[in-house]
Amino acid sequence: MSPQVARQKDQREGLPAFSAPYAPPDEALAETLLREAQRPADAEARIDARATRLVEAIRAKSGGLGGIEDFLREYSLSTREGLALMVLAEALLRVPDAATADRLIEDKLATGDWTHHEVKSHALFVSASAWALGISARIIQPGETPENILESLGKRLGLPAVRAATRQAMRLLGSHFVLGQSIEEALSRASHHREFRYSYDMLGEGARTAADAERYFVSYAGAIRAIGQTAGNVQLPDRPGISVKLSALHPRYEAISRERVLEELTPRVLELARQAKALDLNFTIDAEEADRLELSLDLIGAVLADPSLAGWDGFGLAVQAYQKRALAIIDWVRDAAGVLDRRLMVRLVKGAYWDTEVKRAQERGLADYPVFTRKAMTDLNYMACVTRLLAARPHLYPQFATHNALTVASVIEEAGGVEGYEFQRLHGMGEALYESLIEETGVACRVYAPVGGHRDLLAYLVRRLLENGANSSFVSVAADPSVPVADILKRPQAWIADAGHARHRRIPLPRDLYGPLRKNSAGVEFGDGASLAALLSGVKSAAPLALARGEAAADALAGAAQGFASWNETPVEERAAALERTADLYERNRDALIALLQSEGGKTLDDALAEVREAVDFCRYYATEARRALVPERMPGPTGETNELTHRGRGVFVCISPWNFPLAIFTGQVVSALVAGNSVTAKPAEQTPQMGAAAVALMHEGGIPKSALHLVLGDGKVGAALTVDPRVAGVAFTGSTEVARQINRSLAAKDGPIVPLIAETGGINAMIVDATALPEQVTDDVITSAFRSAGQRCSALRLLCVQEDVADRILEMIEGAARALVVGDPREIATHVGPVIDAEAKEKLDKWVAVHANRVCFRHEAAPSAGLYVPPAIIALDRARDLTEEVFGPILHVVRWRADELDRLLDDIAGNGYGLTLGIHSRIDQTAEHIVRRLANGNIYVNRNMIGAVVGTQPFGGSGLSGTGPKAGGPNYLRRFATEQVITVNTAAAGGNASLLAESE
Ligand SMILES: Cc1cc2nc3c(=O)[nH]c(=O)nc-3n(C[C@H](O)[C@H](O)[C@H](O)COP(=O)(O)OP(=O)(O)OC[C@H]3O[C@@H](n4cnc5c(N)ncnc54)[C@H](O)[C@@H]3O)c2cc1C
Repeated sequence: MSPQVARQKDQREGLPAFSAPYAPPDEALAETLLREAQRPADAEARIDARATRLVEAIRAKSGGLGGIEDFLREYSLSTREGLALMVLAEALLRVPDAATADRLIEDKLATGDWTHHEVKSHALFVSASAWALGISARIIQPGETPENILESLGKRLGLPAVRAATRQAMRLLGSHFVLGQSIEEALSRASHHREFRYSYDMLGEGARTAADAERYFVSYAGAIRAIGQTAGNVQLPDRPGISVKLSALHPRYEAISRERVLEELTPRVLELARQAKALDLNFTIDAEEADRLELSLDLIGAVLADPSLAGWDGFGLAVQAYQKRALAIIDWVRDAAGVLDRRLMVRLVKGAYWDTEVKRAQERGLADYPVFTRKAMTDLNYMACVTRLLAARPHLYPQFATHNALTVASVIEEAGGVEGYEFQRLHGMGEALYESLIEETGVACRVYAPVGGHRDLLAYLVRRLLENGANSSFVSVAADPSVPVADILKRPQAWIADAGHARHRRIPLPRDLYGPLRKNSAGVEFGDGASLAALLSGVKSAAPLALARGEAAADALAGAAQGFASWNETPVEERAAALERTADLYERNRDALIALLQSEGGKTLDDALAEVREAVDFCRYYATEARRALVPERMPGPTGETNELTHRGRGVFVCISPWNFPLAIFTGQVVSALVAGNSVTAKPAEQTPQMGAAAVALMHEGGIPKSALHLVLGDGKVGAALTVDPRVAGVAFTGSTEVARQINRSLAAKDGPIVPLIAETGGINAMIVDATALPEQVTDDVITSAFRSAGQRCSALRLLCVQEDVADRILEMIEGAARALVVGDPREIATHVGPVIDAEAKEKLDKWVAVHANRVCFRHEAAPSAGLYVPPAIIALDRARDLTEEVFGPILHVVRWRADELDRLLDDIAGNGYGLTLGIHSRIDQTAEHIVRRLANGNIYVNRNMIGAVVGTQPFGGSGLSGTGPKAGGPNYLRRFATEQVITVNTAAAGGNASLLAESE
């Protein structure tokens, strides 16, 4: 192939894919970074001098928020009260209607109640660190909180004045961080600051629906036109530009939807890029979360390679230095620019989602973090990226986005001047620094200028406020005169010192999240292409698992009865170790387990992986718990005797588990009964016998004696035959309330000992959403809770209760998001909703929808017609009490409630008699507290989704019709499987109390 043909091919198909290790160890990176950070002493001295001047300039000019002085004067407020109001205002920005806003203000200012709550939740003040706002350190005394200042303010000024002031504060906050509510307003404001270049950003949360994505597209396109019209005759890079978030342009901007995203989104981004090219603007793709990076680069590669963009130097992207892959990205962009023979712009940032990244890696059980955990490592990496970018000129045009004076001074030193690159700052931040720097050096600086209304401001604002408030943030320390300049100038390499200190001491690796006692189960990041490919190929090629042999019920019970004594005498430690070996075996056989979960249980990849992890966690958790809760315990008592509480197995336990978690629930029941010393006869659901048989085989391999664990396959009749047997010493059951009742009756009908029944049953799970909730967050959580796993989880959301005032908007978004789901074969990676378990389930669900046909307000239209698919549906009901049974599938019921009728709603919900999971979306702490007081549900989730309880973190199980307790995966579970024994020994029996007599004074 001639080079020319090869190049044309590249341009048609996009550039080579990016690849780099997702989360390599910090230490190896630190070695190189530390080595390369060395500079001559005179260079360091120049950096010190410049950075000192800049910090002094910041301190001299720093007034914090623009316009705050006037605001404070107008309302006769002290600065600290002004700040407290800002914090309240920030929370108010999310409230859509005036009435609710007033309620929220009153809620926060209604005095008295504050003092009754010892531990106040700070959920409202998402940005409690906003409290800082860069200037707080000088004004706020230790121990003061926004709450207590607001309380006294309410008393002093009265509610009406505070209400007015809060609204004013809202406007002020908005104008401080947002250049204009419309692009025209922003352009007009920018025109007064010719000393800066601008890049405009259209504010908003990521798109949840196709309509959202279209709206953003139109808004970007309109903005590009407007920016072009006022751009004048200057040349790139001096021309203004636009910053684009890919997540705003597609409702499923995620790794698993890669094919679809590339197909649907590439032409959209290309269209915007062409418009920007026609006006010769700077067009930058913002950097988002790490798991979207590879997808972004694939898409950017495809767009860039389009010949229609040839000859344009305005295309750019942001690179985050807190990511361990930053240098590799720069290399990729440099090579891409080389192949295309074009200059690209690269905005180097440190990164805005650090906290989210750390949490996600922990939740997903990754081997390591994709980001650094010490800020100084980010700073070191930033400078390494600076060097790489500067060296890649003129293929790349570096844009250094930072508000940190030390970083700025270091960049100038590294570049040997101020030519051939630009700095960038956010509107509302870094003003003093750059005014002073521009005056001193004439360096080019671009302002990232958010544009949007108050409603869209929130997410952006919270990021900025967090950034301003974080202890480690430069903006925060620079504004605090009590921090010596020398501290601020301490170099990142000095903070790190050696590679052994590259990691944060108090941020454990994801696998060490649960401390030294138990390992977190290992997960996979689907945004890491290499890991995902390895997983997919492992699942595809996995050899089938060995299956344990099922026995006849009578044989299994006889065998278990025989095996009980020796297993019960096996020390707890040995039993626990067998569980841990089983966990390891599960992890080693992960791919085969996933394959079986998919083929037999119809699970999507994500669900199947999560289920293997849950099963692993159960084994490790109960092993740890056994060592804690089942070992002999010395009881206090009089001298001359010892009293010891011990636990022993009860006998033969029957474990009957459902098909919806054929591995995790099956394993959880069986291993907890076993580790408590019981022998077990386990019966998996008739729909998923192979999974049960595979699990039993692995448990046997892990060291559970075959005599202690027996498998019985069959339907409900077989289960019934097991439970009526007189040898049964206890039953663990998960399934319907109706069957649990039957088991309960059959156990009660037996003569002989009364044995425990540990039952987990269903629920009519509700989520209550009030007007202060964030619609996008509600939408995400509803979609996940109601439709993930095709709604076949006992925790799944069945009944969504939305406050009337916001119902239309929220329901429209939920319907749009549901429409964007892919329903289909769960083995396809892009599938969100798989089939239901069997024809009977499908028939029942379809019938339910048919019966409620005149109330169906949404039905997914793109589900395959053949197979066991039930298209997600939403059914509107008048009252919460109208839903009287658990509908076990992807069908969501919705009711609206009036703000003054919350209690009636709670009565309706309580009236169904179930008490499993409950969701609450509200920013009013007192509303959440009120609901929690009124409803006794076993698991309540506030401002998050309501499925996926984590073993040992969210012990799971309900009350009322939802189960007997104790909660699975919780500290009270194991003892229910054991029987107690107290051994009292009179140590003085043989003649006297020697130990008492031996006591010295
Ligand atoms: C013009 C402009 C455009 C931007 N565009 C984007 C974008 O597209 N995508 C994006 O993600 N961000 C973007 N940002 C936000 C940017 O990430 C933050 O503003 C920036 O990180 C702040 O860095 P600093 O040098 O000003 O402050 P500093 O105070 O020096 O650095 C703060 C940063 O350090 C990092 N950090 C903090 N604690 C730790 C820790 N324990 N371990 C590791 N790292 C830590 C974080 O990245 C944090 O933001 C943009 C910023 C600007 C100015």
